[in-house]
Amino acid sequence: VGSGTMANDAVAATLAADGQRHNGLVLVNGEFGDRLQKQAARMGLNARVLSWDWGQPWSLDQIEAALREMPRGGWVWGVHHETSTGVLNDLPAIVKLAKEYGHRVCVDCVSSLATVPVDLSGVYLASGASGKAIGSYAGLAFVFADPADLTHIDPDTIPTYLDVPSTLSVVGPRFTVPSPLLLALGAALEPLSTPELLSKRLRGVCELGRYLRGRLRDLGLVPMAADAHANPSIVTFAPPPGEAAAAFVGRCRGYGFQIAGQSGYLAERNLVQIAVMGNVTRDQIDRLLAKLGG
Ligand SMILES: *Cc1c(COP(=O)(O)O)cnc(C)c1O
Repeated sequence: VGSGTMANDAVAATLAADGQRHNGLVLVNGEFGDRLQKQAARMGLNARVLSWDWGQPWSLDQIEAALREMPRGGWVWGVHHETSTGVLNDLPAIVKLAKEYGHRVCVDCVSSLATVPVDLSGVYLASGASGKAIGSYAGLAFVFADPADLTHIDPDTIPTYLDVPSTLSVVGPRFTVPSPLLLALGAALEPLSTPELLSKRLRGVCELGRYLRGRLRDLGLVPMAADAHANPSIVTFAPPPGEAAAAFVGRCRGYGFQIAGQSGYLAERNLVQIAVMGNVTRDQIDRLLAKLGG
């Protein structure tokens, strides 16, 4: 029970209970990668950190060099969709590299789940949350793991609430889970509950996101993430020249649209975001863009 940050703490706690805890690599190319790095450090993990500028994708060459240098059996942890910038990092490439050099992959999928296809085969630990693109109430944190991969861990050293191996070994809830959160999640997953429904949702997000990015570009509002590695569900951009992020957010609110820009990490860089990961239609996008263009 918790938000996405809780799931990432559980991932860090699982790594910290591991004999290879100091043999890791954290990938940072935005706010959420930076948080992983801090969560790892607070859990006592002494990881190497590779970082890139906001808006840039991971450099696979640098990652490969770092994975090659690490003694086998280590781990690499990064964010799949870096929500702060809109960059979709190359998870399949990391899984392949890690396998080649004998390491495990941990990945934060909090904002990629239900926006793009997510393949967790070959992934050691992954995190998600009920409240983002899945569209349920916030408050349930997910950790995806295979119990067979966790048999080397001694749970007695893990904070009770973050103990993934023990949670997996219990049938039913290990501690109290608020039923409203669970029932709401069930309802939110209903429209994604078959492969056909899921691909319909992902197609819709993809088309709407591409449309939004193109229209913003026409208005001179250039997305921070290049098309080649953009997640369709959120677009990060700077407001028009001379307009502060807070003023732009306020102007959009005046048009009847809530966009992002209040978070400290956006405000301090003067960035704003339009997300289409919720229940957003093309007609709504058109109405906002018509106001912005007029
Ligand atoms: C939102 C988000 C988080 C943190 O989730 P909270 O629910 O705010 O705790 C972590 N990682 C990513 C990629 C996110 O988008």
